[in-house]
Amino acid sequence: MKYDKAKSPSGQAAQQAETIVAENTLSTAFNLETFQDRYDRIREQTPAIRAFYHQPKFERRRRLIAWRTKLVKTKIVVEKKRQHPQKTLIQAIGHAGTGTGTRIKGHLRLGGKWHRQFTRQHSIALITNEARTSMVCPYCRERIIHPRKLTMGKRKLNLGTSCCANPNCACYKECKNSFGRDTLSATCIALRAYGQLTKDPIF
Ligand SMILES: [Zn+2]
Repeated sequence: MKYDKAKSPSGQAAQQAETIVAENTLSTAFNLETFQDRYDRIREQTPAIRAFYHQPKFERRRRLIAWRTKLVKTKIVVEKKRQHPQKTLIQAIGHAGTGTGTRIKGHLRLGGKWHRQFTRQHSIALITNEARTSMVCPYCRERIIHPRKLTMGKRKLNLGTSCCANPNCACYKECKNSFGRDTLSATCIALRAYGQLTKDPIF
């Protein structure tokens, strides 16, 4: 798409139209006439932009991507299910997880709505309360801390690691009190799901 935008005539027209739209932003219009004027100029650019972005080539590609994405996402859930005997895998999913402001930016994340939806279709899903699961030690239920690290001569919080700092905790005594942030919250969610299933709230 980038190549087409730079080389093809319709792409160049779209580029020009986008520049005009960027110059005439409505948010900085200071009175009604300017606002109306800018609005009209933006509306004039519509055909050029639409002609470029909705060509059959791009539309076909868009449909293909949507279809492939659905297949891949279904496959993730189904493959996981097939690793276990039938009807034994219960996936505990947090009730919030819409995935906004996430730290794993480019990677495929198992959060949001789609994971819940496909799991519900293909295997057993258990919706779990995920409050405080990433900031509580699974052994002693005390608040965890993040260690500090030295980068470029500055002390920074290492947010990827979680440590339990409670001296009476079992994992602290064993000198195994540091966990990955994701594994810690996964353990906490699993414990909470167990409590939900057995009506024995251990966590
Ligand atoms: Zn602990």
